[in-house]
Amino acid sequence: MNASLGNSASSRDIASVLHPYTNFTAHEKTGPLVITGGNGIYVSDESGKNYIEGMSGLWCASLGFSEKRLIAAATKQLETLPFYHNFSSRSTNPTIDLATKLLEMAPVPMSKVFFANSGSEATDSAIKMVWYYHNAIGRPEKKKIISRKRGYHGVTVASASLTGLPGNHKLFDLPIDRILHTETPHFWREAQPYESEEDFATRMAEALEDLIQAEGPETIGAFIAEPIMGAGGVVVPPRTYFDKIQEVLARYDILFIADEVICGFGRTGRLFASETFRLKPDMITVAKQLSSAYQPISALFINEKIYAALKKGADEVGVFGHGFTYSGHPVAAAVALETLKIYEEDSIVDHVREVMGHFQKRLRDLNKFDKIGETRGYGLIGAFELVADKCAKTPFAPTGWAGKAVAELCLTEGVILRAMGDSIALCPPLIITDKQIDDMFDKIEIALTKWH
Ligand code: PLP
Repeated sequence: MNASLGNSASSRDIASVLHPYTNFTAHEKTGPLVITGGNGIYVSDESGKNYIEGMSGLWCASLGFSEKRLIAAATKQLETLPFYHNFSSRSTNPTIDLATKLLEMAPVPMSKVFFANSGSEATDSAIKMVWYYHNAIGRPEKKKIISRKRGYHGVTVASASLTGLPGNHKLFDLPIDRILHTETPHFWREAQPYESEEDFATRMAEALEDLIQAEGPETIGAFIAEPIMGAGGVVVPPRTYFDKIQEVLARYDILFIADEVICGFGRTGRLFASETFRLKPDMITVAKQLSSAYQPISALFINEKIYAALKKGADEVGVFGHGFTYSGHPVAAAVALETLKIYEEDSIVDHVREVMGHFQKRLRDLNKFDKIGETRGYGLIGAFELVADKCAKTPFAPTGWAGKAVAELCLTEGVILRAMGDSIALCPPLIITDKQIDDMFDKIEIALTKWH
């Protein structure tokens, strides 16, 4: 422990908290950034310094950090019924209302909603649904699930296996069996010289088909993808990528799971990115913006085909043995329901469409810095990637130090961003205004100028 910090929050943190995704040696030297308050798109630390939360926390606090209606919804539900569960046909009104509302909003016809507490649990539930589904319909060999390199689907044993990032596998003995990874549709980084976006998308779909053929189509149960990859560096696919991918999936009768944990609820200027990218998934996972992060809650939509198989399976086995103590927690459900009402009543998706052009323009303007290799994004999500050589796209070595340095400088200027290697992500609250977008990018430009 750093003795000079005395009995401060910082020293107590170093002494006792094990932080996710943290370099422990560096943390013991610097201590935490303790956030103590929030107001709109801003958060503040112990010293009273304000920051624009350019990442909505972790891609989640869509309505910012002081939405009174969500506080009231939580309080009211806590006073009415603080907890009841969903097991064995028990239910509560917020759970029922939320599921009903979600089915109305779904981008493609869906049959039922299963609740969990985190994105990882929603992914795990989807994996188990795939396996249960194929067992129930008499295809027990069709169990492998394909995700993509650089995809992010969570950190539980199975969801971390689907995640396609080395740090989530190394030293954890992952991925588990039956999980495969196909190529990342990152045109700027992965395309061959002179390859068009269209040809690149075709090649990506062919790579998927080759993998399916090599493994045996009868063994492939499902494919999972984020419409826009988030934690893998904000990768927006070529325009026709998902059309081509879905043709391959249909050819081999492979289920499609859309992971809308980041994109769902307005991030791309549509309620769901499945609409933006013309996806027709059999299952959809959502979390984060579902409750604007004011309560932990996630959901898995399943279509009628899956539900019919679950019903058949349960009739045969006796019980559908899956669920969490807090599945459909009434306080979380009440807050999520109120979040969805705010999205509608305040026309949040229309607002995103109004400001996203300006956001993307200011992001693209960062290309003027000669250490920025690519700026990319869509809607109110984006990233810029730092490179040692702009023309040759040469990454910095070792990977990550430049991203960390620039994110630190942005923090000093009063903007919280997230470095993923040398790509820096932006995912501000959906309520951000044009003026606040300017303020955020002005600060980022100051940080980049200082770094040069
Ligand atoms: N799926 C996606 C696309 C995510 O971005 C995340 C988290 O960032 C998850 C799943 C996992 O969610 P959680 O951290 O709530 O388990």
